[in-house]
Amino acid sequence: MQIVNEIQELNKALALISKSSIGFVPTMGFLHQGHCSLIKASKKKTNFTIVTIFINPTQFTNKSDLEDYPVSLEQDLIMLNKEGVDLVFCPNFQNLFLNEKMIDISLEQLDKVLEGKERKGHFEGVIRVLNIFFNLINPSFAFFGEKDYQQYLIVKYFANHFYPEIKIIPGPTQRELSGLAMSSRNSRLSINDFEKSKGIFKVLTFCKSNFEFNKRKELEKTCFDMLSNFSIPEYFEIRHADDLLNNGNQNRKWRAFAATRLGGVRLIDNIAIN
Ligand code: AMP
Repeated sequence: MQIVNEIQELNKALALISKSSIGFVPTMGFLHQGHCSLIKASKKKTNFTIVTIFINPTQFTNKSDLEDYPVSLEQDLIMLNKEGVDLVFCPNFQNLFLNEKMIDISLEQLDKVLEGKERKGHFEGVIRVLNIFFNLINPSFAFFGEKDYQQYLIVKYFANHFYPEIKIIPGPTQRELSGLAMSSRNSRLSINDFEKSKGIFKVLTFCKSNFEFNKRKELEKTCFDMLSNFSIPEYFEIRHADDLLNNGNQNRKWRAFAATRLGGVRLIDNIAIN
């Protein structure tokens, strides 16, 4: 497994590979089985897998969240080596953004709701760094977790417009036995809050079991209140799976989305409900 830090080194490494398809898995490190599942999907579909580890400051809207973001580079590299990753790119901010070419993209309503509403500028930051990575790496496939479902939709929209040759592949959310969605941020939960956090998936599955199109507003309220029993919720919303609108045809695919805080740690999750 090659580990590179500089763009120049990355370009050199890319020039040497004559592989027909590159799979790309962007991460912020502190890796877990959620990341590994995307790497496995990439290894299955492509013949050269590149993982980036980069905590992207431009997507953090809260300074302390950025400062507290967990880091474990040594362990990450061991894990990536075990997974059979071909190349890991761990750039630093200055080097990566030095020759950034800014793009102008309207994400329509996709970044106005859910995470976009709560974390202003978050998705612009995600797109900025992916624009750099896609440009540098030019993968055939890029893999994104449904854990961050809104991010997956936005990246798909962005790639369709600017990088139509890159296929964006979603991977299912990997969960702890308790149902809690795996996340690097879970490491910041106290034992007590980790125990409580099981409740998030329970509320989502309650929503799925009780979903009735015409009563979805009442159900959102009930689920929000259920989250309030053990955490400080920001939202619980039921929205279309393809455009995140919340009105229209009941025969379309619907998902439930939740964001809540436990002991200062902000957790998000979502599931398909029909
Ligand atoms: P992050 O390191 O949190 O930026 O995540 C990197 C990628 O891993 C993103 O595409 C995430 O959606 C994905 N990911 C994070 N957690 C999970 C999970 N529990 N299951 C599947 N994918 C995940």
